[in-house]
Amino acid sequence: MKNITVIGSGTMGNGIAHVFAQFGYSVSLVDISEPALQKALATIAKNIDRQVAKGTVTEADKAATLANIKTFTKLEDGAKNADLVVEAASENVNVKLSIFKQLDEICPPNTILASNTSSISITQIAAVTKRPDKVIGMHFMNPVPVMKLIEVIRGYSTSNEVCSLIMETSKKLNKIPTEVNDYPGFVANKILMPMINEAIITLHEGTAGVEEIDTVMKLGMAHPMGPLQLADFIGLDVCLNILKVLQDGYGNPKYAPCPLLVNMVTAGHLGVKSGKGFYDYSGGTKDLVLAERFKKQSSNVLA
Ligand code: NAD
Repeated sequence: MKNITVIGSGTMGNGIAHVFAQFGYSVSLVDISEPALQKALATIAKNIDRQVAKGTVTEADKAATLANIKTFTKLEDGAKNADLVVEAASENVNVKLSIFKQLDEICPPNTILASNTSSISITQIAAVTKRPDKVIGMHFMNPVPVMKLIEVIRGYSTSNEVCSLIMETSKKLNKIPTEVNDYPGFVANKILMPMINEAIITLHEGTAGVEEIDTVMKLGMAHPMGPLQLADFIGLDVCLNILKVLQDGYGNPKYAPCPLLVNMVTAGHLGVKSGKGFYDYSGGTKDLVLAERFKKQSSNVLA
């Protein structure tokens, strides 16, 4: 494995490109949007500066990492020489099926096709290719340069050989891979998303305000971030899409997304990436600022 193609340069794609490039792989980063690619390169540079400031990497490492990344807007140009593709485009089943159909035509027969999907079936994605044994889930966690876990998802037809190779490659990135089977939400999001949804339902029902809910979970359950802040961080649109996949996949109403989450996504309040969610990120400060909409919903006012 030498040539890695990363598809999608958003929240996850830039981190995945960063980590592969940092460990010496040659990375082709592909996005349909040129501004998204430029933003990704700027984010990677900024994140490496943070690592330099901490003393974990040097200025020379920064230059080497950035030199390992090339950007493309055409899938064919970015993927034709790939040994491994990691797809991190938007969490939309039709987008992913279309990308994998094209990759199957573009890439050499031995290329392994991985998806960073949070919840979409690897088996379904694999079924649109002629190489289902070489399709696998490689679910990085956000922020990718910091988080240790990679949830490796074995589709119904994924071969043992491909699974072992991806486990080994993950270790070369200084990550800890954990193998799970392909069922909706896998392990991470089958457990995390109902908790986030329940936090939004708790807010919607007026049991407590945003800060109170996050404080209970941070201080009471030792979570480093409250569930509403975490939802903002992940992206509320991503959370909504994952809940829909769980609801469809298990046919169980317990996964039905809270109407408040649906409203926020419809209104374009997507969390950190849009500048506003449960908290307001437009001030550019590190302190958490409650979004205007939720200020009067604190438990004091309700009481
Ligand atoms: P994002 O919205 O930040 O970025 C998606 C990027 O994909 C955008 O830049 C968009 O222009 C690009 N894109 C869309 N269609 C494309 C196409 N056909 N070809 C190339 N690029 C295309 O999304 P994200 O949060 O980075 O999520 C990406 C994937 O990672 C999703 O499958 C998501 O479920 C998964 N994921 C997200 C998180 C998270 O915390 N956000 C965590 C783990 C996994």
